[in-house]
Amino acid sequence: MFKAKAYSAASAISPLALTTIPRRDGTENDVQIEILFCGICHSDLHSVRNEWSEFMPTQYPIVPGHEIVGRVTQVGSAVTKFKPGDLAAVGCMVDSDGTCPECRAGFENFCPNMVLTFNSPDKHLGAVTYGGYSESIVVDQRFVLRVPSNLKPAGTAPLLCAGITTYSPMRRWGVTNGKKVGVVGLGGLGHMAVKLAHAFGAHVVVFTTSPNKKEDAIRLGADEVVISRNADEMQKHAESFDFILDAVSADHDINAYISLLHRDGNLTIVGAPPKPLGVSAFALIMRRRSFSGSNIGGIAETQEMLDFCGKHNITADVEVIPIQKVNEAYERLLKSDVKYRFSIDMASLKSE
Ligand SMILES: [Zn+2]
Ligand SMILES: [Zn+2]
Repeated sequence: MFKAKAYSAASAISPLALTTIPRRDGTENDVQIEILFCGICHSDLHSVRNEWSEFMPTQYPIVPGHEIVGRVTQVGSAVTKFKPGDLAAVGCMVDSDGTCPECRAGFENFCPNMVLTFNSPDKHLGAVTYGGYSESIVVDQRFVLRVPSNLKPAGTAPLLCAGITTYSPMRRWGVTNGKKVGVVGLGGLGHMAVKLAHAFGAHVVVFTTSPNKKEDAIRLGADEVVISRNADEMQKHAESFDFILDAVSADHDINAYISLLHRDGNLTIVGAPPKPLGVSAFALIMRRRSFSGSNIGGIAETQEMLDFCGKHNITADVEVIPIQKVNEAYERLLKSDVKYRFSIDMASLKSE
C-alpha cells in the first residue's frame, strides 16, 4: 500500500479538499497510472452530494472522478497490454467478475459484480474505491484502455464517460453514413454526440431551447439546429428521424421527440430525469417506434470508441482547471456554465 494525494468530500455538504488516500501495491495484473487529467462528470457532483442515495448511497469520504487519462508508471509481471511510459485511460469501472453472461458477452458495464471507479466496495483494500481526483490509481489491466497518440490528453479524459455513453447507443442502433440523427440537449453528453454522429457520416440535427447555442452546434458538426420550443420548426421534422439521442436530465416532453421518428426509429435516453416520463404508447405503436436507455459501454467497445476518436481526431471541448478550482467548477456545472466539460489538470495537485 502507498499513499496518494487526492481531493475528497467528507460529507454531502462539505467542499472537496486535499487529503491522502491509500492505493494498493500493484498485483501481477495491475497497471499503476500517474493521472494527468480527470474530467468532471455530472455524476461526480450527484455522488458527492449524495443525490442518488436511493440506489447508490455515498460512503464518505468520497474521491470522485471516472474520466481518467494518465501515464503508466509501473506494471505487474502478467501485464502484456501496457508498459511504463504509455498513455492510458480508465473510465467508469475498474473491475467485474469476468465470468457472468454479461461479462462473457463483453458487457462488463452490466455485470452484477461490476466495480465502479469510485464509491464501490474495494475488494483489495476494504472500504470503497477512490476515483480520479487523485495523483495516481492502480487498476487491473482488463479495465485500462489504450489512448491513441494523436489525441490531446485533456480533451480525451471526457471520452471515458461522455464519449462512450453517446457512442454505444449510436452503434447499437446502427448510426451510419446517411442516417438522420437527432441530439437533444447540447451539454457534456450532447456535444460529444454531435461530434460522433457527424463522424459516422449522419445528418445531424440538434434540438435546443437556447437560440444562442446555434452557432456552436454547427461548429461541432450539426447540419441543422431546431429550437425545440418552436412547434412549427419541430413539425417540419415529423416522422423523419432514424435515431434520436436524448441527453436531457430535466423534465421534458419526450413524446414531442418520439413523434419525430419514422417507422422503426429509436429514441435512446442517456440523461436521467428524476421523475418518471409520461411516454405515449400511441406514439410508439403507430410507427413501431422504440424508446430505450443506455449506460456507458463494455471495455471492448470503449476501446473501439477511443480508436474511432483517434482516427477522426475527436476529443471533448474542455475548459482545463487546476484541482483548486473544483468546488467553483461544481457551482458552474449546476448553471451549465461550461463548454462543454471541465478537465482537471492533475499537475496542480503536486504543488499542494
Ligand atoms: Zn460520468
Ligand atoms: Zn460479470
